[in-house]
Amino acid sequence: WREMARQIAHEIKNPLTPIQLSLDLLERARRERAPGSEEILERTMGLMRRQVEHLRQIANDFYEFTGGRKAVARALPLGALLDEVLHLHDAWAVERKVEMHKDGPDARVWGDLGKLRRVLVNLVSNALQAMPEGGQLFVATRLLAEGVEVTIRDTGVGLTPEAQAHLFEPYFTTKSEGTGLGLAIAKRALEEMGGEIELVPAEEGRGTLARLRLALAPAESA
Ligand code: ADP
Ligand code: MG
Repeated sequence: WREMARQIAHEIKNPLTPIQLSLDLLERARRERAPGSEEILERTMGLMRRQVEHLRQIANDFYEFTGGRKAVARALPLGALLDEVLHLHDAWAVERKVEMHKDGPDARVWGDLGKLRRVLVNLVSNALQAMPEGGQLFVATRLLAEGVEVTIRDTGVGLTPEAQAHLFEPYFTTKSEGTGLGLAIAKRALEEMGGEIELVPAEEGRGTLARLRLALAPAESA
């Protein structure tokens, strides 16, 4: 618990510093009635909004990492959920010059909606973060004999050998703004749902492939 508290304090400091600096800048611009203060205001609001979003992400990650709420499994429409998660990332993808594609059959999978959404959001965010210079994101589904496979492939920087060895360990991150909890949370959430996750170098050229295996919803479930 002490380690976790220390980690949370550390994580929160990262977004707080730019927010503080932005406020100082705004204050000075107003005091000096600087020309272009309207533009400064616009830019600062954008920055602060992103930092607040980042803080929210940190709070969510830590909450989820401590177990979050209890999983409630039910039948989930996979296709609609994937559409929703991709749609959430539309603006970010455009900004990053990333094209997103989705392919494959729909299925009803068995799991906790909030937790599965969170896993998918984490994987899509990781993929976008791995493509600072633009690229392609491919999401595909495939029916297996027992379950459904979902793959999320990016054409980004790829996994370093070090990352490959520690991917699912809590707090392992190679990002200045990362919590290192996304994949640890994903692994646990999937295990709770009777699924699996692995990350491997993409076979096609560069990038990374995340492969999930999800259980199918029982036929009689509503
Ligand atoms: P965070 O995103 O906060 O760093 P994660 O648990 O989501 O934490 O990911 C841990 C690490 O795994 C990342 O810091 C990165 O080094 C590596 N990683 C995860 N997904 C990808 C990806 N799609 N491409 C390259 N590296 C990745
Ligand atoms: Mg992540």
